[in-house]
Amino acid sequence: MKLSTMGNLKPFGPLYENAQKQFLKAADLMELDPNIGNFLLWPQRILEVHFPVVMDDGRVEIFEGYRVQHNTARGPAKGGIRYHPDTNLDEVASLAFWMTWKCAVMNLPYGGGKGGVRVDVTKLSEKELERLSRRFFSEIQMMVGPHKDIPAPDVNTNAKIMAWYMDTYSMNVGYTALGVVTGKPLDLGGSEGRPEATGRGVAITANEACKVLGKDISKATVAIQGFGNVGSYSAKILSEEFGAKIVAVSDVSGGLYNENGLDIDDLIAYRDANKGLIKGYPKAKPITNEELLELDVDILVPAALENAITEKNADNIKAKIIVEGANGPTTPEAEEILIKKGVLIVPDILANAGGVTVSYFEWVQDLQTFFWDIDDIRKKLTKMMVNAFAEVYKTKEKYNTDMRTAAYIVAISRVANAVKERGYYP
Ligand code: GLU
Repeated sequence: MKLSTMGNLKPFGPLYENAQKQFLKAADLMELDPNIGNFLLWPQRILEVHFPVVMDDGRVEIFEGYRVQHNTARGPAKGGIRYHPDTNLDEVASLAFWMTWKCAVMNLPYGGGKGGVRVDVTKLSEKELERLSRRFFSEIQMMVGPHKDIPAPDVNTNAKIMAWYMDTYSMNVGYTALGVVTGKPLDLGGSEGRPEATGRGVAITANEACKVLGKDISKATVAIQGFGNVGSYSAKILSEEFGAKIVAVSDVSGGLYNENGLDIDDLIAYRDANKGLIKGYPKAKPITNEELLELDVDILVPAALENAITEKNADNIKAKIIVEGANGPTTPEAEEILIKKGVLIVPDILANAGGVTVSYFEWVQDLQTFFWDIDDIRKKLTKMMVNAFAEVYKTKEKYNTDMRTAAYIVAISRVANAVKERGYYP
């Protein structure tokens, strides 16, 4: 299927175009029915909102936000909401697109959605953040609901904000609706193991990748770009539970390198006492984010934002395994270079799917109002991640392709079957 067959619809921007390229590579290989392919290339529903927030000094500022539902053939839309000064429709639509495939790879009964607000959270007071969050959630209320679309945390959003979302929705509908968002605090219908879930999934899939390459993860060195929720939990679990040596991490303030391995708990404590940044940590050598990506390590985990690995730096990457903690960190051009070099890329829609999988557990627990313990959550998550990895790897061998294309083939088949079985309404 060629982009030119897509009629007069236009990608929202370069990121969405890249996401469509990934899809089309798989669609070609699996000989997907173009009628279904053309439908799945586009989001079903987009809401753009502009809304006022009263700032602490009495000024009223207008903010822009989005909620996109890419596809709901397999169930309600599912996906986070991010707060970032550079977010835009191109990014949010791409992230919603990836959520559809992520949920389908994991065989969760969900479609894909995503939201975003263009805002620099470092410039907001706590009260401003609360007013912005509550107003935004009211603005998108027509789209969300426990059986329609279930948001969750993403970049710069967290459990506290999910509690405000849940409360806002509940006040508006007149009853407490725990299942409207996931990633909530534990005493508000949150799930054990949700904060660590994405990092745990990254660690599990990194281990599976080592196994298929015949490597021992306890002898592996790791560099992690990003030290937010995903990066820091990946580092902690990879080192504490899998015995890997984390030699480098970075965040927006720069990177750190220690060839003997970083003490992750010590670094997390430093970050939390240092306005959330790792800059200035004394027990490591400072390096740049660019240097981190090019380190001679066994495993590289990009866990920050999109387009970290491009055709400019792909050739200099020395890691043999890349595990995508972030969404969309590798451009299609960079991926071709890395595949030729023999790098095994565990793609975002598989590698970072631990978060949405435990979100699914949280939603199930909320709907049945019966809660599970941490051992149960970890056991179920591990089983689902290991199985999904195995299925994608098997598909990669069958089609003689790369891991991302294989993950898309697994996901697209499931969504395409759902579309076919439901039929075209009316
Ligand atoms: N924002 C996360 C992601 O990109 C989690 C989504 C969710 O839990 O719904 O996968």
